[in-house]
Amino acid sequence: MGETLVYESPTGAKVKKDLEKDHCGNCLRMCEGFQIPCSRCSDSRFCSEECLLEAESSYHPYECQHTTKNTTKYFEDVLNNMRGDSIGFHKLLYRLVAQRPVTFFQDHISWSKNPDEKFSPENGIINKNGSKPFKLPKISKDEDLSGNYFLGGSYRGLWSLVGHSDNDDPVGIFWIIISAVFHLRTLQVTGYFGSENKAISSTLSPDQLVIGSVLVNILQMLRYNAHSILSQVDDKNGNRKSWKIGGIGNGLYPSLALLNHSCAKNVTKYYDGSTVVVVASRHIFKGEEVTDNYHPWFAQMPRKARREYLHQFYCFDCNCSACKNDYSMLAELKQSNILPWRCIDCNEYFYNEYCLNCNMKLNVEEMILKLGEIKTSIKENTKKFESKDENLTGVYNDLCNNSDDLTKLLGPNCEIVVENGDFLRTVLCKLYGNK
Ligand SMILES: [Zn+2]
Ligand SMILES: [Zn+2]
Ligand SMILES: [Zn+2]
Ligand SMILES: [Zn+2]
Repeated sequence: MGETLVYESPTGAKVKKDLEKDHCGNCLRMCEGFQIPCSRCSDSRFCSEECLLEAESSYHPYECQHTTKNTTKYFEDVLNNMRGDSIGFHKLLYRLVAQRPVTFFQDHISWSKNPDEKFSPENGIINKNGSKPFKLPKISKDEDLSGNYFLGGSYRGLWSLVGHSDNDDPVGIFWIIISAVFHLRTLQVTGYFGSENKAISSTLSPDQLVIGSVLVNILQMLRYNAHSILSQVDDKNGNRKSWKIGGIGNGLYPSLALLNHSCAKNVTKYYDGSTVVVVASRHIFKGEEVTDNYHPWFAQMPRKARREYLHQFYCFDCNCSACKNDYSMLAELKQSNILPWRCIDCNEYFYNEYCLNCNMKLNVEEMILKLGEIKTSIKENTKKFESKDENLTGVYNDLCNNSDDLTKLLGPNCEIVVENGDFLRTVLCKLYGNK
């Protein structure tokens, strides 16, 4: 519990439009009161000279409202008004392309065509023993020279993600093309293809065709793989009980995106600037899959709605433990006296008073005694948390210990485990995440 499982800087990240005034446009950190603005436009602000220079030397010249003449703002309004869409993806799409030169995408176009090339069999030949011989990976010039798909900021990792393009209906395809054409033309008029190629003509150059297909590919993939970047959003009176977590932007994290969904996940995350840090939110048992949550959480959304959401937005039928066993939502758990006890010896659940794994008989008195000790510790820790002067690191360490003990005794579907998990996330984000 509390171990770091993924630490990843994004391939691209973009702050929400309404937060641009007090967050850094490059690293997304809060920079209220100290900002360095772009010298040409009034929209972009940065937390430091380093962030300003990083933006200026990559994407900002093509995003600057001074050169786009505010057309990107109009396009966002069109998307918003006509589709009621989240425009976050479209802005992130543009950033992902604008921050690399056209030559980068030309050099690596093979990745977008066949990202799994490294693992595909050579000419379909099968070895005598039935295994498939692997091709040696092609060496490409990039930050991924090591062949590692999972370095922070990887484009190779980006192209290994799913786009589910088979599921697109004509309306979906129409909007993807509209968005790609709009972004392509914006890149062109801002000088991405060279200052001599700014004038729009009725045909596309070979460079523009490459970038057009890159835009379509990335947008298809972003819909299923982008993450909301979360941050602590406090009320100003400093009352710890009112701490909340809210979205400040969108980012693409190819390694994080590989974690499968569960409606009862076992990790939690916080963001350090735009870098995501994923930690175990409870004890993860040997052999158990590490899972993230793509939004529908069993404690707050009924099973049917969760499964419809996941089917519509992620194209799969959820078969997680919460869906298989139809866990109750928090409101019902609060009314229930039934606890999902785990065996003290082997952590498996009980059925008819016997452990499903080791067949040990349930000893309710012993379990209740153990739970009582944990409850007392949680109560004391909550008191510490609520007193303003208490050191949060101590609160967090106690919380980790309690959570560990609790999840070895009880399954995720009970009030105390749900509330403890929520508490843990709040303290973790406050302690280490963006403020
Ligand atoms: Zn910054
Ligand atoms: Zn600017
Ligand atoms: Zn599920
Ligand atoms: Zn057992």
